[in-house]
Amino acid sequence: MSAELDELYQSIILDQNRRPQNFHKMEDASGHADGLNPMCGDQVTVWVKVEGDKLVDVSFVGQGCSISKASASLMTAAVKGKTKAEAEQLYEDFHALVTGKSDGAHLGRLKAFGGVSRFPLRVKCASLAWHAMKAALESGEGTVSTEPHAP
Ligand code: ZN
Repeated sequence: MSAELDELYQSIILDQNRRPQNFHKMEDASGHADGLNPMCGDQVTVWVKVEGDKLVDVSFVGQGCSISKASASLMTAAVKGKTKAEAEQLYEDFHALVTGKSDGAHLGRLKAFGGVSRFPLRVKCASLAWHAMKAALESGEGTVSTEPHAP
């Protein structure tokens, strides 16, 4: 990745971290899930509102490193208005990007997270909110952790 691109992507992450999108609780959600990444101390709660097959609204609150927060922010923006199937496809595409299996050519601003594939611990930060979104969609509620044996 070129230095200019690295810089562009870093500024996207910093900007999302400073001014996260959809950063609020949701009263009339159809599901929510908590995500925990004890390796870094990231916590996120994701709410989804589904009507028919569509995610009409997505929001989150959380605290943690700038990668986890920026990723949660861009995740909500990316899946809002999509169908469940489209959201799950995005989850797969994003996961392929952050694990270095894809260059995420069609992922727009989400490509800012491509660099984390070089840092295995950061992959958990970047994918935390996505796991929580998927859990909220599938079960309606629950907690996901990046560490299977975490409390
Ligand atoms: Zn983190």
